[in-house]
Amino acid sequence: MLTALALRARGYAVTLLDRKLAGQESSWAGGGILSPLYPWHYADTVNALAQRSQQLYPALAEGLREESGVDPELLSSGLLMLDNVASLDAASGCGVDPLAWAAAHGVALQRLEGADVASVQAGIEHGIEGAWWMPQVMQIRNPRLLRALRAALDVHGVRLLEQVEVQGLAITAGRVHGVRVDGQVLSADAVVLTAGAWSAQVLQALSVASEHPPAIEPVRGQMMVLNAPQSGLRRIVMSEGRYLIPRKDGRVVVGSTLEYVGFDKVTTEAARESLYAFALRLCPALAGAPMEAHWAGLRPGSPRGIPYIGEHPDIAGLFLHAGHFRNGLVMGPASTELFVQMIEKEVGQLDVAPYAWDSVR
Ligand SMILES: Cc1cc2nc3c(=O)[nH]c(=O)nc-3n(C[C@H](O)[C@H](O)[C@H](O)COP(=O)(O)OP(=O)(O)OC[C@H]3O[C@@H](n4cnc5c(N)ncnc54)[C@H](O)[C@@H]3O)c2cc1C
Repeated sequence: MLTALALRARGYAVTLLDRKLAGQESSWAGGGILSPLYPWHYADTVNALAQRSQQLYPALAEGLREESGVDPELLSSGLLMLDNVASLDAASGCGVDPLAWAAAHGVALQRLEGADVASVQAGIEHGIEGAWWMPQVMQIRNPRLLRALRAALDVHGVRLLEQVEVQGLAITAGRVHGVRVDGQVLSADAVVLTAGAWSAQVLQALSVASEHPPAIEPVRGQMMVLNAPQSGLRRIVMSEGRYLIPRKDGRVVVGSTLEYVGFDKVTTEAARESLYAFALRLCPALAGAPMEAHWAGLRPGSPRGIPYIGEHPDIAGLFLHAGHFRNGLVMGPASTELFVQMIEKEVGQLDVAPYAWDSVR
C-alpha cells in the first residue's frame, strides 16, 4: 500500500491486487517496533533504511491520521534491551562495540547499570544488572496504520482489487505488459511484486527465473496481546530475544517466535504458553491480565534481512519490492522512497544498488 500510494503521488495510475484483503498479512501481524532490535547487529543497508524511515514516520502518521481519521498511534516509547544471552551474543557475536556503533551512526544509545534500569522502567524482573537503552525508538500500531493506508488508497485514487490472485504475467519480447487474472490480461506498463513472504513463490509459479532468484522465505512469528492497563509498562522492553510492547490504551503486545516452518500460519499451544510465561516472568504485574488474542504471521525472510528493491535483470518493467524480514514496518517508508527514486531515476540519499534483484547478499 505504501508503494502504491507513493507511485500514485508521482502521477502513475496504480492498480493494487491482493489475493486476500489488503493489509491482513505480515504487516498486520507484526509488532510495530520502529527500529531493528540490537541494530548494531544489522547491515548498514538495513540501518540506513530504518534511520531514514524514522525521519519520515512523524509526517506520514500525521498525514494519514488527517486523511483517514484513523490514528496509527505513533508513540515514542523507547526501547530497553536487558542483558541476557541474546543481547550479549548480539553485541559480541558481530564484533561491534554498540556505543561506538551508535556514535558513528548518530543513534541515541545508553548503557544502564543497576538502579538506572528501574528508573527507565519500573516493575520489570531480570537476573542480570544492566541494559541498553534507546530512548528515541518509536512504535506504530500497525493494524491501525494499515487501516489508515487502506483508506488513503481511496482518497488518492489507487484502484484496489481484493481477493484477486495474479495467475501469470503477460510478457512479450523481454518486456512485461500486464498480469493475467481470470483468463484476462490486465494491461500495465510496469508490474511491481510486493507479495511479502510469498514473493519468491509467486515468481516461481509464474516461471520467471533469473540467475540469482530472490531468496525470500516465510518465517513464522507468533504474538499475543494482553489487556493490562495496570501493568505500568511505558517502554518497549526486550529480554531473552523477546519483547513487550505497551500500547497507548494499556494493551501489551508480547512477541515473538521465529520459526522456519514454511507457509504454515497456525498458532501453537507451546508458543502460547512460552510467550505468556515470558511476559509474566519479565513483568509480574501482568499476572491475571486477560489474553485477548494470539496470532501468527509470516515474515518475508531474506538473507541478512536486506530487502529487494529492483527490476528483473532480464524482464523490463517487472519490479520487486519485498523481503523486509523482521523490519518491514520500520524500513517500509524509506524503502518505498528508494523504490520510487529508482523508478524515476532520481539520485537520493541512498544508493539502490545493494538492494538490486540479482545482488548476492
Ligand atoms: C510476528 C511478527 C512481528 C514483527 N514485528 C515487526 C516489528 O516490530 N517491526 C518491524 O519493522 N517489522 C516487524 N515485522 C516484519 C514486518 O511485519 C514485515 O517485514 C512487513 O510487514 C512485510 O510487509 P510486506 O508488505 O512485504 O508483506 P505483507 O504485509 O505480508 O503483504 C504481502 C501481501 O501480498 C499478498 N499476496 C501474497 N501472494 C499474492 C498473490 N499471489 N497475488 C496477490 N497478492 C498476494 C498478501 O495477501 C499480502 O496482503 C514483524 C513480522 C511478524 C510476523
